[in-house]
Amino acid sequence: MPTPLVDLRRQHRQIRKRIHSAIKRVFKSGRFVLGEEVARFEREWAAYCGVAHAVGTGSGAAALHLAMLVLGIGPGDEVITVPFTFIATVSEITRTGARPVFVDIEPRSYTLDVAKLEETIERDYAFHDRIGHLINRATSRRLKAILPVHLYGQMADMRPILELAQRYNLRVIEDAAQAHGAEYRMERAPSISPAADAVFKAGSLGDLGCFSFYPTKNLGACGEAGAVVTGNAEWAERLRRLVNNGRANGDVHLEEGFNYRLDALQAAILRVKLRYLDAWNERRRELAALYRQKLADVEEIVLPEELSYGRHVYHRYVIRVPDRERLRRYLADAGIETDVPYPVPLHLQPAYRYLGYRPGDFPVAEECARTVLALPLYPELREKEIGRIARALRAALRARG
Ligand SMILES: *Cc1c(COP(=O)(O)O)cnc(C)c1O
Repeated sequence: MPTPLVDLRRQHRQIRKRIHSAIKRVFKSGRFVLGEEVARFEREWAAYCGVAHAVGTGSGAAALHLAMLVLGIGPGDEVITVPFTFIATVSEITRTGARPVFVDIEPRSYTLDVAKLEETIERDYAFHDRIGHLINRATSRRLKAILPVHLYGQMADMRPILELAQRYNLRVIEDAAQAHGAEYRMERAPSISPAADAVFKAGSLGDLGCFSFYPTKNLGACGEAGAVVTGNAEWAERLRRLVNNGRANGDVHLEEGFNYRLDALQAAILRVKLRYLDAWNERRRELAALYRQKLADVEEIVLPEELSYGRHVYHRYVIRVPDRERLRRYLADAGIETDVPYPVPLHLQPAYRYLGYRPGDFPVAEECARTVLALPLYPELREKEIGRIARALRAALRARG
């Protein structure tokens, strides 16, 4: 029996009745765009993330685009992000007219390397300080924001990122499209009591957090959907306008916007699924632990690591292997579907040739692109399938030669 990389049918078999009654509710209301279902989902999602406001969008890409617009990011500005992510992270920067500035990833978390981030910001700061003197202006800096990506279900190391942002007056937008419910622990200042660690959900630490509810994400719609979360009421209000063609009240358009609305059927379905998200994430973690147990002694394989600062929700179970294409073929022959997220880092994609990056510029991203392999992982995956996958991997490595 084949094991697909993802199998949403298994999930829907369990919750079909609830999904169907949510769909019926929307049909009965006759309201298919925005409306009460969307407003309720937005409140529930904001509460889940621990932020004051959530605004639904038609996709994760739309969420990223709008997050940048409300921060005033536009032509001539620069936004720091990683070259090892889904293209939408970067295409939504360029869509505003801004330019992406890449910083390499850190190989254990696959997310933004904070030491390299600091170097990049300091270099930029020193450069623009000199230029500023030459042209007799206080600053000519174009660097506006940092856009960390919480890849594969684990958050980037947010504390140093937030400290750098504060020191250099930069905004922070989290791409949390792969990290629904992932957490980051941060000590509170000792002056605040109790001095216990505080736990923050993905999306809640930056100025704005962006989510995709693409069907295969940890919280997925049955179609396209996304959201932006923020603690800032003014930005939330502007986001609500921008998703709805700039409409403020009735027929008053304060500015041009977009048709980026979340539809009511998706909101109703997401409301059903949100109730399962924590249990599903917990199951993903158990299955990840089972993979680890079965593969820990295989020297050739680098397993995913949960870093001490947070809670990984395993959107993807990504290992690094030698001789990847041969392994993939071997597993495919055994009926096990795998995937490579992402085989070509963005700085080497033809679409971004104009940015002028070269092979060797981001060695960690390039090495990961050569070696990462995603194995099947979803809450409904059976334990015996993991056993079979682990056995097939061992056999494939032994068969090398
Ligand atoms: C899925 C994803 C997006 C885009 O979301 P869409 O809903 O497909 O537009 C952006 N960033 C990352 C990291 C993603 O995984």
